[in-house]
Amino acid sequence: MKAVVKTKKGIGNIEVLDMPEPRVGPGQVKIAVRAAGICGTDLHIYYDEFPNRPPVILGHEFSGVVAEVGEGVEWLSPGDRIVAQTSAVTCGRCRYCLTGSIAMCRERRGIGFGVNGAFTKYIIVPHQIVHKVPEAVDDLSAAMTEPASVAVHSAIERVPVAAGDRVLVSGVGTIGLLILQVAKAQGATVLVAGTSLDRARLELAKSLGADHIINVQEQDVVNVAMDLTDGEGVDIAFECAGAAQSYNACLKALRRQGTLGMVGLYGKTFEAENELIPMKELQVIGIYGHIWVTWRRALTLMAKGMIKTRPLISAVLPITRWEEGFRQLEAKEGVKYLLQPVD
Ligand SMILES: [Zn+2]
Ligand SMILES: [Zn+2]
Repeated sequence: MKAVVKTKKGIGNIEVLDMPEPRVGPGQVKIAVRAAGICGTDLHIYYDEFPNRPPVILGHEFSGVVAEVGEGVEWLSPGDRIVAQTSAVTCGRCRYCLTGSIAMCRERRGIGFGVNGAFTKYIIVPHQIVHKVPEAVDDLSAAMTEPASVAVHSAIERVPVAAGDRVLVSGVGTIGLLILQVAKAQGATVLVAGTSLDRARLELAKSLGADHIINVQEQDVVNVAMDLTDGEGVDIAFECAGAAQSYNACLKALRRQGTLGMVGLYGKTFEAENELIPMKELQVIGIYGHIWVTWRRALTLMAKGMIKTRPLISAVLPITRWEEGFRQLEAKEGVKYLLQPVD
């Protein structure tokens, strides 16, 4: 089967190779991939800025159909439409595994960088991380359950947004556009900030319910946030851009005792105005991945139309055109590119 593989360490080193079709073992599920999204993390893997274990098939955001179940898996049958969490290998005995935060397990190996991923025809996962997809969610929308889960983990579980909260979402990629929708579903007023490169994404944010959109090259995000909150500052800011400027703007735009949710990855050190954290008694909460219940929450919100993933899909490409999707994502053309397997 054809697969998009990171062949060795270093920048690039990604190609389409013929890989053997995997065989299902006890407790495992063989999934026929329907669609798999290209994520910012995949770009970091391209540049070798994110831990990965080559040779490995990329792709961790996907939907599919059960092709075969291994011994002992009774709750799934061939044909079931499913999605899967990304922590494919965990130790099962540490404090994180036993309290449900499997993404924090020190022995975790994630799908699409630690073990083979979904930019191919078939993928094998342990049945414990599989979730059935509700009828109301189509295959392409379902392929974005993973980023939707990151948004739910951010704005419901790690930094719970309450009705009436004033929330700044800084960074308008997939995660920013999904956190916007979760915060709106919770009853918040939401400001979304992006750059001139994000012009189309900001318009999309508007159509997805953003109360205010801010182009940071035309308007000062801190001034706008202050104006909209009677000079107080926002209650919560989600930093989703993974950029120093955005991080510092969030610290400044927050009200005293406000909360910063950090979702973006920076890949480097940077100048930060951290003095504001003690001065304003800010809380800073790191956000990584999701837990089991996050997926149920995300799929429910998607089925009810409160998280819309479909409008984020810019194109669906065969995996052989992966490079095009990577390039467009990097150039911030569109939002989400999905890949589909080829024979
Ligand atoms: Zn991702
Ligand atoms: Zn563990």
